[in-house]
Amino acid sequence: MSVTDRLDDKSLFRTDSFIDGQWVSGEGGVDVLNPANNAVIATVGDVGEAGARKAVAAATRAFESWKKVSPFERARLLMNWYKLIHENAKDLATLITLEMGKVHKEAQGEVIYGASFIEWSAEEGKRVHGETLSTPFPSSRGWTIRQPIGVVGCITPWNFPNAMITRKCAPALAAGCTMVIKPAPETPLSALALAELARRAGIPDGVFNVVCGDAPAIGGVLTSSSDVRMVGFTGSTAVGKLLMKQAASTVKRVALELGGNAPFIVMDDADIEKAADGVIASKFRVSGQTCVSANRIIAQPAIADKLVAALEARISKLKAGDGFASDTDVGPLIHMTAVSRVDKLVSQAREQGARIVTGGKSLADELGGSFYAPTLIDGADPSLDVSCSEIFGPVCSVYRAESEADIIKLANDTPYGLAAYIYTNDVGRVHRLSEGIEYGMIGINAPMVGAASTPFGGVKESGIGREGGKWGVEEFTELKYVLLGGVEG
Ligand code: NAP
Repeated sequence: MSVTDRLDDKSLFRTDSFIDGQWVSGEGGVDVLNPANNAVIATVGDVGEAGARKAVAAATRAFESWKKVSPFERARLLMNWYKLIHENAKDLATLITLEMGKVHKEAQGEVIYGASFIEWSAEEGKRVHGETLSTPFPSSRGWTIRQPIGVVGCITPWNFPNAMITRKCAPALAAGCTMVIKPAPETPLSALALAELARRAGIPDGVFNVVCGDAPAIGGVLTSSSDVRMVGFTGSTAVGKLLMKQAASTVKRVALELGGNAPFIVMDDADIEKAADGVIASKFRVSGQTCVSANRIIAQPAIADKLVAALEARISKLKAGDGFASDTDVGPLIHMTAVSRVDKLVSQAREQGARIVTGGKSLADELGGSFYAPTLIDGADPSLDVSCSEIFGPVCSVYRAESEADIIKLANDTPYGLAAYIYTNDVGRVHRLSEGIEYGMIGINAPMVGAASTPFGGVKESGIGREGGKWGVEEFTELKYVLLGGVEG
């Protein structure tokens, strides 16, 4: 079945870049594959460096008028976009499942989650205020204003092809910025469908541009152009570091949402069944391919065996399959190479003496090359790659630590610091552990942390800046101070 056969609104299927309100075809073509069966579902042209320059020029022109549009009018246009996304949620979710394999009900959840940032930002854009300040000069007055930073380059990953765009673009547009977006080559269709809906919503030409193609060429323009005032990136820590270096040449602001290696701490007073449910929700969503996925389950020894048994009972029942099948719990990984990478991590743990409690193998023979069995490992050494790296697959490991000091040490034993989870009913433990671990977001008896109203982001090598809430809008503004001298009576 072709992509358009699956869509109610066939004009949401776009394979050209969107620059200055026009669909622009590129050279050659990058195939977009359905990871569930590796069939080519679309071919998207590469607009390269020239396309990126054209988009930056369009966004620079558009900024001059968009920054002057009142926040109330910007909110009205954003709410048009929000409503169109809701009206077309089914098709947008279909595109997500097709291009990255996500289980369809999770894809529907992503569309609604992504749209919630538009609604929130539309409102919050009206509340971008300055302050009046005291000054050392009796007859002077000082105040601050917040102004949009300018053109923003935005580079996004494939794992949330819709929401990682709206989480940046909604606050940026609400603040009065214009955007040039480079989506991941695996998932351009979601980005281009969002552009089509932004166009229908009445967002002016040049304000929202999507350029597809060669990453270093487009990224080179976005990080080096002095017309681009900020780069917002979501993706791996390795690429984030490279973009940060490149952006240094023009002292651009960077907002980086990078990788994670989340600890999931279960204390001996916790409700073990709830903790096991929490691990499943946090770990196996998107087949473990999320930055906030629980990788390392750290349990106190008194309850560790009970927790392993509760996890085994749940994980061994998870059904892998095509994201469109109604009984699928875990979809494919993004590529066959992702399966090889995950399998290597698990094999290394097995060879080092860890116990593979359930799973631990590719499902190539049963389902196809992009599938990996939901896997639980017990007794992995904390120095192994499976413990130290971002797994990005349906695999988690249980570790044991007794004292709070050892638990904090193990949780912090990683360069990452994005999300962490703590299961306990002891309020003293809540305070000591949440203050002791170095993470940007902590869920206490809660396996999911993201919402439009709250700050999303990490510390250490997990990134710089926050998306969501009032902080998400502020990121896209410059703070300006004005001093009015000599106000005599
Ligand atoms: P990735 O390999 O870093 O790629 C992300 C984006 O960067 C893609 O669009 C990619 O395009 C582009 N890119 C790569 N090299 C580039 C360059 N030299 N110049 C400009 N752009 C470049 O990450 P991914 O595999 O797509 O996504 C998974 C990663 O994202 C994980 O580490 C995950 O934790 C992280 N993530 C973080 C968050 C968060 O909020 N913290 C959310 C979601 C995902 P090409 O593929 O064409 O190179």
